[in-house]
Amino acid sequence: MVAVNIPGIVQTAVLVQASTVIEALVEISAQREGVSKRLFQGKHILRPTVIVFLNKERVFDSATPVDDNDTIDVIFAISGGDYTRYSRQIILQDIGYDGHRRIQASKVLVVGAGGLGNPATMYLSAAGIGTLGLIDGDHVEMSNLARQIAFHEGDVGTNKAVTLGKRLSSQFPDTKITVFDEHLTNDNARDIISKFDIVVNGSDNFRTRYVINQVSVELHKTWVDASVIGYDGQLVCFSPGMGCYRCLFGDLPDSGDTCESVGVLGPLCGVFGSLQAAKVLQILGNHDIRTVPSNSLFRINLMSGVADNFSWARDPDCPVCGHEQFVVSVHKSDIETEHYEFFTSLDERSMVLDIDNALGTMSMGIIPVYKVNYQRFLENPNEVIHKSSDRSSYHCIL
Ligand SMILES: [Zn+2]
Repeated sequence: MVAVNIPGIVQTAVLVQASTVIEALVEISAQREGVSKRLFQGKHILRPTVIVFLNKERVFDSATPVDDNDTIDVIFAISGGDYTRYSRQIILQDIGYDGHRRIQASKVLVVGAGGLGNPATMYLSAAGIGTLGLIDGDHVEMSNLARQIAFHEGDVGTNKAVTLGKRLSSQFPDTKITVFDEHLTNDNARDIISKFDIVVNGSDNFRTRYVINQVSVELHKTWVDASVIGYDGQLVCFSPGMGCYRCLFGDLPDSGDTCESVGVLGPLCGVFGSLQAAKVLQILGNHDIRTVPSNSLFRINLMSGVADNFSWARDPDCPVCGHEQFVVSVHKSDIETEHYEFFTSLDERSMVLDIDNALGTMSMGIIPVYKVNYQRFLENPNEVIHKSSDRSSYHCIL
């Protein structure tokens, strides 16, 4: 048997029976879903970016014979030295090369370049996010330096977004940094947020959160919120169709305890800014966003060491997201896995496209279900959706 390693695609060596390198790669492609398209561009023709090593020696002839106990390693050529820089991320099971490509192609907006924005942007840039937007109208103050660790004394008085942007640009040249040296307001939010895929909130006031929430619902953007005070922090991710900030928190006054009045432990900002970055990478890296847990509120108190997860649901009467309509496709694999929970969270404003009779006779209750042929659906998803529904406005989760 020959051991085949393909980092980022198969997590541990796979043993196959083969007499040549190409036979081994054909065999592993037959055994593991998704391997074939990464290795081959035609029948038994390796892609030019596939680099093969036999017992750690580069092999140029795929007909090279192999013996029992030989090891084949497959590496993918990536331009710009990406593999070396991001290798520990690429070999993660839920990210891999495809996930890393999505991370590189993504545009993430971080609102607030302070205690949360500092660590969140550092980790997002380090992960190779394609475009990182930074918006903050505040200036660095001496009292910020104990927790906003990207800033130096010499930065006091400078705009936070501009200064953090310069630091990130010099340290992480792969990420394009776009800076907005202003506050996010009702006037500029739609224009700015529309340029990005995901929003991270690092601001410290309810007003900004409601602005982000309103616009994110309208533009169907996912956003990741965190808040910290004292020793306590909270993290919530809001995904289109799954409820919004208003569903969870209702109406909040733009007042109350602040870090200025109550204080905040510096490392708490590091913990929650990092959690925000981790959540974004989880969303971007994952091939199926429905497997990313949502509708939970994660809380940690660093003094007691207690961490909790609380669940919440979309409010059907929410004045912000209550009117939204959704088209969701359901496949057989969804029914067979825990993804089914995703569908149980929908209500009558949703519409389900039942792909190739995945639901069978299963009822979705009050949610309208339209049976769809998968091949037709792949060829022209928009036509299928419009034929199935006379709704003029919908958000599609496929
Ligand atoms: Zn809502």
